[in-house]
Amino acid sequence: MKKILLIHTGGTIAMEENKHTGGVNTKEIHPLEATITELSNIAQIVSKNYVNLPSPHITPFHMQELATFIQEQTKSEQYDGLVITHGTDTLEETAYVLDLVLETPIPVIVTGAMRSSNEHGSDGPYNLISSVKVACDQQSLGKGVLVVFNDEIHSAKNVTKTHTSNIATFQSPQYGPIGIVTKRGVFFHHTPLQSSRFSVKHFTKKVILLKAYAGMDSSLIEAASQNVDGVVIEALGQGNMPPLTVPAIQDLISRGIPVVLVSRCFNGIAQDIYSYDGGGKQLKEMGVIFSNGLNGQKARLKLMIALENTNSSEKLQQLFLE
Ligand code: ASP
Repeated sequence: MKKILLIHTGGTIAMEENKHTGGVNTKEIHPLEATITELSNIAQIVSKNYVNLPSPHITPFHMQELATFIQEQTKSEQYDGLVITHGTDTLEETAYVLDLVLETPIPVIVTGAMRSSNEHGSDGPYNLISSVKVACDQQSLGKGVLVVFNDEIHSAKNVTKTHTSNIATFQSPQYGPIGIVTKRGVFFHHTPLQSSRFSVKHFTKKVILLKAYAGMDSSLIEAASQNVDGVVIEALGQGNMPPLTVPAIQDLISRGIPVVLVSRCFNGIAQDIYSYDGGGKQLKEMGVIFSNGLNGQKARLKLMIALENTNSSEKLQQLFLE
């Protein structure tokens, strides 16, 4: 029987609804205890509580510490797979950081729930069982960190939370899931490309994320970027900015602060196509780094991680093309 390490970090999957106030909050005794007992016919589960936080309280510091915790745990004991339970709001960010920094030969699965433990149709136990099945499956090896939710398997790189409340919230726009979980087993239909691993001891760089809008000028960029090491902007369409933002972007680049552009569009890749004022061609010639389809929150984490390893704008551009 496979041995799976289950690490809890909190989130709705660890919460219950107060039937008087309707508020959802953390619970003393982990509500997945009963499911863990049930799982004993699928795998041997070793369960550890890492933190018990709603995921809006999770920071890059926790993500990096979690990676260290995982590395320590998997070195001191032999496991066949790892399942992490997490709040859904920032789940994709933790999964992506783990995907970029973890060096482990075993499958790593991140999951959560949209409905807390005592709500009708609570999805936590089901998602946990599916995740353990995926963690036990040989085919999950070498696919990077995976997010298992609502019968689907997604790559950490592409998955994002798309709905505020629906249990089918996790989707991979443009690419779709890489596999499914059914009553009979785990079926993969795609294999993600291997991406680079980075070593990060601590996050020390401050990178901010801004979103472009019609009529935007330089003021927000100027005000927000006084003491930063990098800026990620969710630009318009294929990677264009309103012309009045150009002086502030130029100023950042002149000061050696990298500016990474992603698109605020849900699908597609930001590219240097348009040559008008503020268009992608002008931005690229100025030294703006175009990212290869990551969303804003993930590009921010990748820039934080990359800046711990390099300051070279050529290397940064190369990393964001991967
Ligand atoms: N707000 C909750 C959290 O991210 C949502 C969830 O877990 O689904 O912790």
